[in-house]
Amino acid sequence: MSETTALPVPVPVANPDTEEFWAATAQGRLLIRRCNACGEAIWYPRPVCPFCHSDDTAWEQAGGRGTIYTFSVIRRAFGAWSGSTPYVLAYVELDEGPRIMTNIVECDVEKVRIGDVVEVVFQDTGDGNALPRFRPAGS
Ligand SMILES: [Zn+2]
Repeated sequence: MSETTALPVPVPVANPDTEEFWAATAQGRLLIRRCNACGEAIWYPRPVCPFCHSDDTAWEQAGGRGTIYTFSVIRRAFGAWSGSTPYVLAYVELDEGPRIMTNIVECDVEKVRIGDVVEVVFQDTGDGNALPRFRPAGS
């Protein structure tokens, strides 16, 4: 059993393009952007669509569920992360489509598998923001 320990929760750097995203995480809501021109979901959030270059994009609240697309178990780390191993670095594919680089938390790292269904959790950064991470759904 290798239960994850608490990971560092880095304070996000907000800029005008991501301010609304971080404000939403503080309220427990995960936002993505959607292109009104081509319909693609956009991650990371940015005002210009990377698929068709339209600037007709808008915020959309994601359901907060997805599946593990791929992952690594990190067993050695340095600096602020050195006391947190082992931990899981993963790409989660949201139900809306985008793949997000994130951590899988509140899990047994030895039992994490590609395709596992996960749900978002918001971890307080201590400065009024929250960092979205994912845990096994229904646990
Ligand atoms: Zn587009």
